[in-house]
Amino acid sequence: MQHIVTGGNPDIVGHLTAGALARAALTHEVVTSARAALDAVRRRASALLILVADTPDLDGLEVCRELRRHEELAACRVMLVVTGAASRSLLEQMAAAGCDDFVVLPSGGPELCTHVEDLLELPRRRHHRVPVELLAWVEAGARVFQGQTENLSLNGAKVRLDTPLGSVDWVRVRLRREDHQQFMAVDARVVWQREGGRELGLTFIDQTPETRRQLEALVLWDLVEEEGLVRVYLEGDFVETTDLQPLAQRLGPRVDFDAAGVRHVNSHGARRWAALLETIAEQHEYTFSRCSTAFTTQACFLVGFLGRGRMVSFMAPYHCDGCDRDETRLLQAAALVPEGAGFVLPRFRCPQCGGSLRFDEIPERYLACLSPPRLP
Ligand SMILES: [Zn+2]
Repeated sequence: MQHIVTGGNPDIVGHLTAGALARAALTHEVVTSARAALDAVRRRASALLILVADTPDLDGLEVCRELRRHEELAACRVMLVVTGAASRSLLEQMAAAGCDDFVVLPSGGPELCTHVEDLLELPRRRHHRVPVELLAWVEAGARVFQGQTENLSLNGAKVRLDTPLGSVDWVRVRLRREDHQQFMAVDARVVWQREGGRELGLTFIDQTPETRRQLEALVLWDLVEEEGLVRVYLEGDFVETTDLQPLAQRLGPRVDFDAAGVRHVNSHGARRWAALLETIAEQHEYTFSRCSTAFTTQACFLVGFLGRGRMVSFMAPYHCDGCDRDETRLLQAAALVPEGAGFVLPRFRCPQCGGSLRFDEIPERYLACLSPPRLP
């Protein structure tokens, strides 16, 4: 079980104990001073320390330097929490202190979880289970059971049936959105049954490219409302068959598109996406978070791909020359320091050799969608 020590920001503990990370086997400890942080890491051989970068009683930079002076504590990764915009001097100090990562507040829960997943080398949650209600027909031989999906991913679904299924291991499932006419059908294995066979956990098997495409069309997005903000989790590929129009009716005045699950965008899909953004009313605000490299690359090549929206954070390729390690890091736009026509980019400590991880793309090209720096 991995141990995390957090100091200086109570909200962060809340994010770590709720949502995606709650499922990971992690223990937490909250500290209020630099000394207590060092003691906790030493005592529990902690995997991760999260500290505010600079407050009088808990100087994260100093704790980081102190940890790096002790070889036995080198395995502990350090993420600093920065309030307000990052500065060139802070980026330099963090790199010199051997900081592994940092996050600029305010930062959303999903974003923070991605940072922690990456630092602890937990699997990134790729398949967001969509709590979508689809009409479902489960076929077991000649018998057909009617019901609804409770959630759906590209790999499987949870289905609630009107009548119990009974002892069956393999089924064929037909799914349909209530607002769509077309069905899709896929074979599935019954992984578990609850409530006397009325609730099923299914894993899809033998997917053809066609069923895969149909599933992607069904699970392309999920909407979650959070205090006046609609967070849209995007999933799958944006291609010529992608139908984004039903999404247009579901967006509110404040939207954040979480694009971590976008794997591939071709030119047809990009145009369909840009057309969706054009339907958003002038007075409505929208942002993009955790943008995958596929999404970010398109955003930088295609004018209009982000519409009037602002990119909050994106996946960035990093490389260590010392040991030839590649990593993808989540960077917040607020973590980049505007300088001249471009940006100063953060550097991080390489977890493998202790060397320096550097941004491994041409900044002017990869960050074209962010520059020139926009005025507030
Ligand atoms: Zn290295």
